[in-house]
Amino acid sequence: MSDTRTDFDLIVIGGGSGGLAGAFRAASHGARVALLEPSALGGTCVNVGCVPKKAMWLAAEVAGKLRQAGTLGFPAANCTLDWPTFIAHRERYIEGIHASYRRRLDEAGIALMPTRGAFVDARRVRTSEGVTLSASHVLIATGGHPIKPEIPGAELGSVSDDFFAWRAPPASVAVVGGGYIAVELAGVLQALGSRVSLRVRGEQPLTGFDDDITAQLVADYRQSGVDVRLSTPTLALERTEGGIRLRGADGAWSEPVEQVLFATGRQPNTTGLGLDAAGIAVDLQGFVPVDPFNRTSVEGVYAVGDVTPSPALTPVAIAAARRLMDRVFGRRERAALALDDVPTVVFSHPPIGRVGLSERAARAMYGDDVQVLRSGFRPMLNALSESPQRSLFKIVCTGEERRVVGLHLLGDAADEMLQGFAVAMRRGLTLDDLHDTIAIHPTSAEEVVLMR
Ligand code: FAD
Ligand code: NDP
Repeated sequence: MSDTRTDFDLIVIGGGSGGLAGAFRAASHGARVALLEPSALGGTCVNVGCVPKKAMWLAAEVAGKLRQAGTLGFPAANCTLDWPTFIAHRERYIEGIHASYRRRLDEAGIALMPTRGAFVDARRVRTSEGVTLSASHVLIATGGHPIKPEIPGAELGSVSDDFFAWRAPPASVAVVGGGYIAVELAGVLQALGSRVSLRVRGEQPLTGFDDDITAQLVADYRQSGVDVRLSTPTLALERTEGGIRLRGADGAWSEPVEQVLFATGRQPNTTGLGLDAAGIAVDLQGFVPVDPFNRTSVEGVYAVGDVTPSPALTPVAIAAARRLMDRVFGRRERAALALDDVPTVVFSHPPIGRVGLSERAARAMYGDDVQVLRSGFRPMLNALSESPQRSLFKIVCTGEERRVVGLHLLGDAADEMLQGFAVAMRRGLTLDDLHDTIAIHPTSAEEVVLMR
């Protein structure tokens, strides 16, 4: 069957963070929008990313606090999470998000089609059912998927999508990788009772983050029981009677573990998208190249989110899509999205908040004209409970006016602290501004304005 519908101004391919944001904003400017999404609404973030991850992180934080409570004089609590009960809460929460999206799409008059899209040419997209849609504008927002390294036995390992389908924690797990996902899921699993080894191929996890912060995170993780192995590439997996074992660069095999979790990066979803038919070539990493205004090389075709080389973060995808639709359908001049000081949080235990340059990056850029302030301390609850876990905050400044170009927070509540400072940094925050601000006592956050 072939049928062509031409009554759209915009076709959005992918109903994740970027696609939904683009569809809603375009519709608010009066555009007639078709949104193609074959899977669950909300994409990676809502279904196998930020949201279920944050739920697991919150459960892990609660487990940690219950353990701490036992050392403070509260009756010792059972800290073992009943996964099925918690996952039922998690899924209920996510179903609420799906329902809310469906209602809002309906209210906005957006045509939601539960199907995959592939370009016929730059103005036409064919659905899996063979219906051809046409529009003067097309937004590619197809996101990405997790990848495993090409090593013998890789099929024995899981990826983050599989993790969210687990209904019980493994007794032991080796997490391979050192990025956001590896660090976050290693922390969650350790706090929820698994025996975790974290195998990082580089000298530190979280490449590109501040060196002092990652060193303190490694210390905190080791203190909480994670077996962090640095400079430890994983070259093969093998099933044995006792579980799965991993081979390192020295040829030695690890102790067997129940599960191996690969968190070794993600790849953009472009297979089967028909980009050739639209006249679009991907870059060497497989991303759809875009200019600072999210325009591809073909007029009227745009891309946002993880399918592009921009930082793979939900708020970046959303902000890019909204600005784009304001320009295209709202006829509003909007500046390109500033990607140089994107605030970001790693939901480790404790969390890391980061905005701007690491000390190393600042020195590479500004040479000796860099001033660094540090505050390492034990937060009050850790001191009360005699936990040795420490926080570390760092400010990186440059120039005579001591402009803050980097802020790095590792410690409880760093995730909630960062946002306000990120606003101030966009407004040109200096060290004097921090010193002129009255502290809030007693908090961890006050360290940021008291650092000398
Ligand atoms: P996605 O959200 O991946 O959506 C793409 C959609 O396109 C999918 O629903 C897919 O089904 C659909 N699609 C693909 N191909 C087609 C096709 N041919 N036709 C139609 N539809 C198609 N970011 C944060 O900011 N904070 C976090 O805490 C955070 N945690 C994360 C944790 C994990 C485990 C992971 C994996 C990611 C996390 N991220 C986080 C990153 C965040 O999820 C992504 O940056 C964000 O989802 C990207 O949005 P997107 O719209 O580009 O793609
Ligand atoms: P990242 O790109 O952050 O990290 C990938 C990690 O895998 C790196 O440590 C990399 O090491 C390592 N690696 C790659 N190949 C191998 C290999 N063959 N063997 C061992 N290690 C390997 O990817 P993630 O998958 O963790 O996350 C993808 C993106 O999703 C993130 O970059 C982030 O933008 C987003 N995200 C955001 C979150 C948040 O906001 N809290 C949470 C989760 C994800 P090396 O550094 O040496 O290359």
